[in-house]
Amino acid sequence: MIPTLDAYIPVVGNSVIDQLHRLGERLKGIRVVHVNSTREGGGVAEILNWMVPLMTELGLDARWEVIEGNNAFFGITKGIHNGLQGFPVVLKRQDWETYEEVNRQNLARLQPVLEDADIVVIHDPQPAALLGMMPNRRGRWIWRAHIDVSKPFRPIWQSLRSYLPGYDASIFSLTQFAQPLPHPQFIIPPSIDPLSEKNRELLQADLDTVAREYDIDRSRPVIVQVSRFDRFKDPLGVIRAYRLVRQVLPIQLVLAGGTATDDPEGQEILDEVLEAAEGDRDIHVLLLPPDAHHTVNALQRIADIILQKSTKEGFGLTVTEGLWKGKPVIGGDVGGIRLQVISHYTGYLVNSPEGAAHRIRFLLHHRDKYEEMGRTAREFVRENFLLNRHLREYLTLFLYLDRGKGNHLVL
Ligand code: UDP
Repeated sequence: MIPTLDAYIPVVGNSVIDQLHRLGERLKGIRVVHVNSTREGGGVAEILNWMVPLMTELGLDARWEVIEGNNAFFGITKGIHNGLQGFPVVLKRQDWETYEEVNRQNLARLQPVLEDADIVVIHDPQPAALLGMMPNRRGRWIWRAHIDVSKPFRPIWQSLRSYLPGYDASIFSLTQFAQPLPHPQFIIPPSIDPLSEKNRELLQADLDTVAREYDIDRSRPVIVQVSRFDRFKDPLGVIRAYRLVRQVLPIQLVLAGGTATDDPEGQEILDEVLEAAEGDRDIHVLLLPPDAHHTVNALQRIADIILQKSTKEGFGLTVTEGLWKGKPVIGGDVGGIRLQVISHYTGYLVNSPEGAAHRIRFLLHHRDKYEEMGRTAREFVRENFLLNRHLREYLTLFLYLDRGKGNHLVL
């Protein structure tokens, strides 16, 4: 259940919610369709879960469609994803044909909805080819990239880019991700829902229950990284950092992850992690179902240290979640993590397992500094990365794109 907007007033204040209602007034009845490739698992699904109901509450006619595909398709789109994040991936002409074919099959099902829409938001590369196949395109189309495209592997970017010129706008999370494209680009970082099962306050008893369930000893420091099992999340680097600290402190490590239906590489990475962790009872590798929001919330609260040691990161909602829980986060010095982790204030940016180990030890030994950074971290999220700011920026963009139809930007 998504809370109604009024429930957020105690967290973000009255005027902020008022402003959203005023924006909603100007967009009443506008038909918005979000399209992505999975209903659960990963950050995009996490965001659409609250965004669509809240847009509906504001008076928009919002809906969320998910494209379907087989393993071959998701293998190819994971290749595109890896290529866009800089990994040298080779995709053959036939792969791009399969990519288009699956988009065409989805269009057969989605065409009436997409034709009717005033605004279509296409999330990430998987459904990006839909637009080029629309015979009667009517509304405004936005391509929303959630991944770290700061240094894409050029051949993959060039191929994907050929599907993008027809879009009216694209959205990236960071200025560093912007690309030469023939339409306006907007920077809108993601956000979290502070009242969701993933982020709401929990009782100590809830934390004890989850700790017992996973055999975590609360009398010793716990390091936690929550992430899909993905090479760019660097779980092996996390294990290396843990081992370095473990030489001097009796810490435990929790690597909690799940799988997403549009991510076929997860098992391979999980196997590597299990092999690296073998024989160490203080490394807890947890394979969680995609709806384990309460468990993730509890693990992030049990954590003494939250890590997100990614080597590429579009944004990193797990970082936001950790900061919101009043913890400094130690994160890889990349992509969207740089927007959130301000070294020495909200956490530490690191470039190696050794760097991570050094910061873990520092924070475990300096409790006052830890508490102070944790308070700063939470306020930083309140000001910048809660859903109200994110909604406002989307609605403002919709107004801008729809302005040719009689709407005027009066806030
Ligand atoms: N997540 C989860 N269970 C898991 C792994 C991740 O619920 O086992 C959630 C996590 O809490 C966060 C989202 O999935 O809300 C991941 O978003 P992020 O931006 O960190 O990474 P992405 O998976 O989109 O690359």
